[in-house]
Amino acid sequence: MSVLGTGSRVINHELPQALNVAPVPVFRDMEAATRAAHTLLDALGVGLDSESLKATPQRLAKALSDLLTPREFNATMFPNDEGYRQLVIQCGIPFRSVCEHHMLAFTGIAHVGYMPGDRILGLSKLARLVEHFACRPQVQERMTQQIADWLQEALSPEGVGVVVIAQHSCISLRGALVHGSDTVTSALHGLLSENVNARQEFMTLIGMFRGGSQ
Ligand SMILES: [Zn+2]
Repeated sequence: MSVLGTGSRVINHELPQALNVAPVPVFRDMEAATRAAHTLLDALGVGLDSESLKATPQRLAKALSDLLTPREFNATMFPNDEGYRQLVIQCGIPFRSVCEHHMLAFTGIAHVGYMPGDRILGLSKLARLVEHFACRPQVQERMTQQIADWLQEALSPEGVGVVVIAQHSCISLRGALVHGSDTVTSALHGLLSENVNARQEFMTLIGMFRGGSQ
């Protein structure tokens, strides 16, 4: 069944109501990972004999595994019955990810927005989507693009905008030793890419969030 929405748009009520979004299956041998962590720490001269450090290889393996495992979720979708055509933005979604070049954490926030077409996504799912693409060996550029591409493909919206602002510990704790410096990436689709006014509105709205909370 389909009904006419605002204007000449047709809203299809038979669109999928939820997409299951699960981690890519990866076999994890935690015993081997623990042995390897032990070997690594030992080779680096970290003594593991004390009570405090005895289980550190196990904890290190578990911590890394946790960082690389997003939670499964259902991306619940609803028909855009009211024909809402303006921006929907979830601002300041906190995330943590792992830089695949150093296996060190990078953390920050993501602003994720879209201009709905025939369907809208449950609001909390934008945060779950960020987690889904953050919890894997990553580079910030790819993660930003993946979030935008997923929304474009799943929702077929009029536009998508994703801005990620992060601090990388591989820059602050080693290498350049630059503290407090942000890396900013963006990915835009549809109207937010092509239409200057729409893009400006998106940037202004996420800028208001920044100005109001930091
Ligand atoms: Zn790195």
